Amino acid sequence: MESGDPADSPSSSPILAVGGVSIPSLQPTTTTTTWTASPHPVVIKWAGKEIELADVSGAKTVLDLKALIHARTGVQVDRQKLLNLSFKGKVAADDCTLLNLNLRPGHKIMMMGSLEKDIENVDVPPEERPEVNNDLDVAEDFELEEYSALNQNKIARRINEYNVNVLNPPRPGKKLLVLDIDYTLFDHRSEAQTGTELMRPFLHEFLTTAYAEYDIAIWSATSMKWIQEKMKLLGVDTHPDYKIVFYLDYLAMITVPTQKYGVINVKPLGVIWGKFTMYTAKNTIMFDDLRRNFVMNPQQGLRIRPFRSAHLNRATDRELLRLATYLSHIAKLDDFSHLNHSKWESCVVRLEIRAGTLRRRRRPREGDEYNADSS
Ligand SMILES: [Mg+2]
Repeated sequence: MESGDPADSPSSSPILAVGGVSIPSLQPTTTTTTWTASPHPVVIKWAGKEIELADVSGAKTVLDLKALIHARTGVQVDRQKLLNLSFKGKVAADDCTLLNLNLRPGHKIMMMGSLEKDIENVDVPPEERPEVNNDLDVAEDFELEEYSALNQNKIARRINEYNVNVLNPPRPGKKLLVLDIDYTLFDHRSEAQTGTELMRPFLHEFLTTAYAEYDIAIWSATSMKWIQEKMKLLGVDTHPDYKIVFYLDYLAMITVPTQKYGVINVKPLGVIWGKFTMYTAKNTIMFDDLRRNFVMNPQQGLRIRPFRSAHLNRATDRELLRLATYLSHIAKLDDFSHLNHSKWESCVVRLEIRAGTLRRRRRPREGDEYNADSS
């Protein structure tokens, strides 16, 4: 949002509210229209939050303000970018006093800036970070608008800097299927002697069917070394009936701020689309057991039930078999962008009824509650 945006201007609304809470000192009873030497509150918008700094004196400089912001947010002074703080049309210098900036009371200052720990974390494999247990309801928690420029910059950086090793060239006219590994293709937490014991049932059948119409990519929030090991373990890397186009690891992911869960790591398909122009929002679909991984591309994401406790669930899990049916069915479409993948199961049920292959209703399993609406 730019300076002068109506949403930021106190004159656009008779009552000033921050995050739904009125701030008494900003009520219209304040007759001041520009900053005076007496203290005023300042609102900082950052990472989806609004932070009020009470009683900031107009005699303070921009640098003083940054120090106050640092004290409240932890973002270091030299990492802060105050987006709508200008003096005579230019970015306000650090020694400029707030009085000189002609700010109105209640002016909301947009800030971009990352915490040191998040910057350091960019190079730490997500598996080593504390796990986010809650699956995010992305539409509610995520404020894309303010940060879209920042997120797009991060995606652009990945496009430029992340090196994709193409294992098998993309095939003309094929769509793209992007697959998570852990809990999607196999249960990485149970103990076993062989990979086959932990492999999700019908994995090879699924990949073989999908390969007819889709190029297949693997994207896992771990390091490349582990992805290669896991694919070898499952026999995916050398299977005669399908080929994988490329692997992406955690370094191709980006961090985005969310209101409820702070900064999270996600898999933006824009990285792939920027590198491989034959793949687009219209012909890409991605499976992941964590909805938050496709927060940047909710329309292309299909949330698969997690495959856990392999020894218990191996005999009954038919998720991949049914998803293969879904993929083959939608592959006839030129454009996926009107599909609602959360309804994939009702689509498969209809196809099974039509084909006379519908099985008796299966027992509920772990993870079923997530798709209760489509059962
Ligand atoms: Mg997973």
